[in-house]
Amino acid sequence: MINRISNKINRIQTDLLFSLNFEKFIFSKKRGAVILCYHGLDLYEDKRFNMRFFSNKTIEKHFFYLKKYTNVISVKDYFEGRFDSTKLNVAITFDDGYKNNFKYLKPLLEQYEIHASIYVTGLNQTNYPFIWADFADLVLFHTKIGSFYIQQDEFIKNLNGQFVNQEGLTLKHKIKEVGGWEYKEDFFKLFESEFNELKKNKALDDYWKIMSDEEIKACQNSRFITIGSHGYYHNNLNNIPFEDAKGELVKSKLYLENLTQTNVSEIAYPDGAYTEELSKWANDQMNLKYQLACSFKFEDDHDKVYIRSRFDLYPVFSYSNQLKEIQPILKF
Ligand SMILES: [Zn+2]
Repeated sequence: MINRISNKINRIQTDLLFSLNFEKFIFSKKRGAVILCYHGLDLYEDKRFNMRFFSNKTIEKHFFYLKKYTNVISVKDYFEGRFDSTKLNVAITFDDGYKNNFKYLKPLLEQYEIHASIYVTGLNQTNYPFIWADFADLVLFHTKIGSFYIQQDEFIKNLNGQFVNQEGLTLKHKIKEVGGWEYKEDFFKLFESEFNELKKNKALDDYWKIMSDEEIKACQNSRFITIGSHGYYHNNLNNIPFEDAKGELVKSKLYLENLTQTNVSEIAYPDGAYTEELSKWANDQMNLKYQLACSFKFEDDHDKVYIRSRFDLYPVFSYSNQLKEIQPILKF
């Protein structure tokens, strides 16, 4: 209780510092380097379907203060250690390749003249051009169905509105655990007509549409954006056979390099999931030498030159408190 109150007082103090233009006292103490991980943007920070989307107004605040007080660098510069030792060094990344990145993020990066990497899938080349988790968020939020089967596994809606199977796994956990694409396809087919109805509602576009090939190309052509891989199907690459995971990286790289006519050397693993074997192979054989996890999964990841962890950001609390929370991953 006392902790909760003191946290609340701290947050109010931070808001006050920013509103009085004293925020430099927060940033002046920060040193080292960090890679930030964002996902989608919308106009209203609607958290009904997805807890991870920032509004374009909040992102603009982030960019304003990061530009003013930190050294914003590319992911490549981060891996190559081109840091300013007098400031916090920040590399900015966005996962999933949403159309909302093209609509709201690209103009902001160009306005503030700061660099970001956007990690995109190969899903435009499939019959299901969307991230499976967004499909799940939207259809399961809106459906009137109380239970359904996927491959003999029954999911029943619980009191929290989540669909859970006999083992107590939510559908989203189960999909990550299975890892592969066929299971996702079975799920898509089950709710295809419901999703087709939802797609008619343009107000939902920001919550599921991914960039078209043309938009990906336009991003790569911006001098403030680097396009990298986010896998091909957004499968959890630690839970599928090694040969399949390798195949996904090959397909993803081929697709993106054909599209952008540049070498793709960055990958952010979908859901932060990888194996040691895969990440070594990706560096040695695929020239994916700038690899991003969320948190490290293996003990000696720290010592590898080709993989780095990131700091996840969520739109909780005010923008000033979000910025205050950012801490270096590399300390120097
Ligand atoms: Zn993702």
